[in-house]
Amino acid sequence: MREIILKTKAAKLVKKGSPLLNQEDLAKPLEAKEGECVRVCDEKKEFLGMAYVGFQHKGIGWVYSKKDGEKLTPQFIQGLFQKAAQKRSSLMMDESTTAFRLFNGEGDGLGGITIDWYDGFVVVSWYSAGIYQWKELIVDQLQEAIPSIQGIYEKIRYASKEKLPESQFVRGVKANEPLIVQEEGVRYATYLDEGLMTGIFLDQREVRTLLRDDYSAGKTILNLFSYTGAFSVAAAMGGAIQTTSVDVANRSLEKTREQFEVNGIDAAEQKIYVMDVFDYIKYAAKKSLTFDTIVLDPPSFARTKKRTFSVAKDYAGLVEQLVPLTAKNGNLILSTNAANVSEKQFLEMIHKGLRSSGRRYRLAHQKKLPMDFPVAPHTPLSDYLKVVFVEMDFS
Ligand code: SAH
Repeated sequence: MREIILKTKAAKLVKKGSPLLNQEDLAKPLEAKEGECVRVCDEKKEFLGMAYVGFQHKGIGWVYSKKDGEKLTPQFIQGLFQKAAQKRSSLMMDESTTAFRLFNGEGDGLGGITIDWYDGFVVVSWYSAGIYQWKELIVDQLQEAIPSIQGIYEKIRYASKEKLPESQFVRGVKANEPLIVQEEGVRYATYLDEGLMTGIFLDQREVRTLLRDDYSAGKTILNLFSYTGAFSVAAAMGGAIQTTSVDVANRSLEKTREQFEVNGIDAAEQKIYVMDVFDYIKYAAKKSLTFDTIVLDPPSFARTKKRTFSVAKDYAGLVEQLVPLTAKNGNLILSTNAANVSEKQFLEMIHKGLRSSGRRYRLAHQKKLPMDFPVAPHTPLSDYLKVVFVEMDFS
């Protein structure tokens, strides 16, 4: 079996439980091929773990076992899936929540693959050609571990040489289009075979629920970068008087309407703008519009015809512009999935944006990834989600 020799610093991290292997950590050039299982050792040849090689956007492979010689056998993979399902047994039994993450890569013991559960169907995301080589074995074991799976879809999240489609049906029966899933009784229309996205970001489940339960009743809501309007729908189901959703993508209008309608809410009574968020903010400021609860959940980076946006560069400024649009005693739900921005940096940006207004405020709640998105030790980039609930004019 071939070996990977790590430099001292990287070896220490792997010893502590970090599963990610990086190109710059290698003490010797890599000989192993994509998909190959290798022994990981330090420069003194001490064994550190078993890994497979897979080239991702970040990293060249993942440690998956501390047992010398352990390969990616059916039994090993089966064990991972059993454990992952057990960990989520309360979610699996919860009839009012039918979509969640079933397997979260390295957080569940094997990096480079995630599996999401959509009411009996699963979506497997592959992050490298290395892990994709194990597809048949993995999919077989998945079905064996969870016999109730009705159908399997896949997303190819790397540049495949054979130009695989980014989304396709794999086996079993096909899901309805849309497939209606629920989160604590709120319904969402999802499409399991439309590009890389399904219509809902499952990592925000707890944020949607807290918005619905504590920040919506009797309130007006502004949802910026709204995508399919999932936050707006949660708010409307929580008794919001009116929601306003803003997203620049044309598809967002129809998708957002559909999300309301599958919950029996008249979409015509909600506002949905296909518009650049920055232009909308200008418009709202000019009209002196205010909202009781504002949700800000932008992509980490975005390029529109007019401008490039990045959380690191633009978040504080956006928050600052939103304060005048926040009604007295209103709330801001500030979210980012930018892995390159730490929690500390994010809080600094928020304070910077809020401070200049002179209004008092408090940070009422902070949310991170929910329990179905576990993170491996010393892997900060995987712990990307940061959400802060701000209550304005708090005294
Ligand atoms: N908050 C959403 C997810 C946002 S995904 C949710 O929880 O479901 C990011 C969205 O930002 C995309 O739908 C994209 O179309 C939109 N977007 C990117 N740049 C934008 C801009 N400048 N103005 C408005 N929308 C933008």
